[in-house]
Amino acid sequence: MLLIRPAVTALIACLVCALMLPSARAQRLALSFDDGYNPDQLANARELNNQLLKTLKDNEVKSILFVAGARVDSQDGMYLVAQWLQQGHEVGNHSYSHLNLGRVDVSLDAYLSDMERNESLLARLPSWARRYRFPYLKEGDTLAKRDGVRQWLSAHHYGSGAVTIDASDWYYDQRLRAWMAAHPGQAPQAFKQPYIRHVLDRARYYAGLARQTMGREVDHVLLLHTNTINALFLDDVIAALREAGWKLIDPSEAYADSVYEQAPDVLPAGESLVWSLAKKQGLKGLRYPAESDAYEKPVLDALGL
Ligand SMILES: [Zn+2]
Repeated sequence: MLLIRPAVTALIACLVCALMLPSARAQRLALSFDDGYNPDQLANARELNNQLLKTLKDNEVKSILFVAGARVDSQDGMYLVAQWLQQGHEVGNHSYSHLNLGRVDVSLDAYLSDMERNESLLARLPSWARRYRFPYLKEGDTLAKRDGVRQWLSAHHYGSGAVTIDASDWYYDQRLRAWMAAHPGQAPQAFKQPYIRHVLDRARYYAGLARQTMGREVDHVLLLHTNTINALFLDDVIAALREAGWKLIDPSEAYADSVYEQAPDVLPAGESLVWSLAKKQGLKGLRYPAESDAYEKPVLDALGL
């Protein structure tokens, strides 16, 4: 009896666990960073790069840096990119010139040449991952451009470089840098909580959108940039994400989710993958995806930041 009771208790516990599994699965996301710090434009590029990499290391998080070649095409720039590889992160293709495929004046041929030009630059690194991140998340304003690039990526054995959570960290960064310029010598700590709240809110929004479009949780990829705000506050953002129940996973693990095999038939193409799926499905009340300053500006204005 004494021996049986723990066994029965364990069995019941197992059954309870199994029943709870679908809803108990932690929400998971991988971090991805676009562009690369440009030492020609940022005097403290090396310091910011070090700080961001230290945060990732301290938190035992692996990420992927999508490099826009023109921003790092120098000895210093490529050195900073190589640091990411050295610390176990991946490096992917983000085009050379950061062209916008949604623009009518950007041709398919020019765009493909620019992607190849970046491959030549990445080939100088010890390794790089065959994943492509569309600049501005724009995947084409015409069928010919959209499908032309999709075919090129497939022929060149690229895996997905898509984003599901588009957090417009660039706008918060822009405001933070403007504030720092106007308040020399002062620490921009007032941005920390609003920025954390913003990223959590966006993660929640796109997780909801994924459930609506896919009928399940997906492994998310969050779009961030190599900028000042992440060098300063990513550590706190990661802590807050974990606190809110998010499990941080490697990008390669996230991209193994079958959601990244989807290529929504919409035009103009692009944006967050789950936003694009929602658009294809005709979901009502879909807000504009790019999180333009129409959404973020009033929040920061009200805070006087
Ligand atoms: Zn970019």
